[in-house]
Amino acid sequence: MKALRWYASKDVRYEDAPEPSLCPGMLKIKVTLAGICGTDLKEYTSGPILIPLGKAPLTMGHEFAGTVAEVGKGVKGFKVGDRVSGVGYYYCGDCYVCKKGLYNLCVNQGFTGLLTDGCMAEYFLIPDYACYKLPDNVSDEQGSLVEPLAVALHAIGQARVKPGDTVAVLGDGAIGLCSVLAAKVAGASAVYLIAKHKGRGRLAARMGAAAVIYTSEGDPVKQLQAMTDGIGTNASIECVGRPETPQLAIELTQRGGIAVIVGIFEKPGIIDFSTMTFTERTIVGSSIYIHEGKSAIELMAEKRIDPSPLISSIVPLKDAVKKGFQALTDNKDDNVKVLLRVS
Ligand SMILES: [Zn+2]
Ligand SMILES: [Zn+2]
Repeated sequence: MKALRWYASKDVRYEDAPEPSLCPGMLKIKVTLAGICGTDLKEYTSGPILIPLGKAPLTMGHEFAGTVAEVGKGVKGFKVGDRVSGVGYYYCGDCYVCKKGLYNLCVNQGFTGLLTDGCMAEYFLIPDYACYKLPDNVSDEQGSLVEPLAVALHAIGQARVKPGDTVAVLGDGAIGLCSVLAAKVAGASAVYLIAKHKGRGRLAARMGAAAVIYTSEGDPVKQLQAMTDGIGTNASIECVGRPETPQLAIELTQRGGIAVIVGIFEKPGIIDFSTMTFTERTIVGSSIYIHEGKSAIELMAEKRIDPSPLISSIVPLKDAVKKGFQALTDNKDDNVKVLLRVS
């Protein structure tokens, strides 16, 4: 079968790879669409970051829509031909956090497309618990956005957003824009996007952001305060992962606010704790999702959320490097989510 395999930074190849053979508890998926995620892009530009040393060649990808091609031993609730999407994690179910149902924090966690071969291929394997059936009124395109939407829904949960709250989202990538949607669906009265790219900022405004604050137009904290009676928002969602962004996320919030850190950091961030003590702000991490993949599909089926405006283009798998990874690297203004057409 054809697959897109990571060898090293700037060395991702479209080539023949062995078709995976099914194991118990797993589903073999025939992939229809695969999405390029920010983490995939970071592995392409400057990896290995999350891919362990010695893993190459590794088939990339964890965002997908497809159909069930084979059902492994012990799997219930799926049959060949089911249209499905899913999320990227593996968990053990046995460790102390799994026993509390916090599968997103599993001590023995793995991730499809980073630790095992992923979905940028004609076929890949996924554990049954990470796979969800798609209802007829959720398209393959929407299905391929289940995973980033699940990340955003979990982050908004970590922010404890209540109806009427205000939220600042830091970062104009797919997770940032999905967080705008997730905050709105949680009942936020106003969501402010802190953006770098004008094209993505315009998209956020179309997707329901109350205002877009550009970092090129001065201190984002001052700009946000001018829009919020000088106090900032109830919560902020950091979706960037640069050394200076956690501090910014804290300062965007009001007294007693919550800053959620979703970004993946290549270098440590710096925090001035004096901005937390007297204001009782909270900073909290957010790691992937628990059952939010299923919620994402339900919300799309109920027409309460639609991430499809994020899709910038759909390109054939064979053109993934040039029209996908490189296009996303070179032109962030016009590209947010590039989907790869596999079949
Ligand atoms: Zn992703
Ligand atoms: Zn576990």
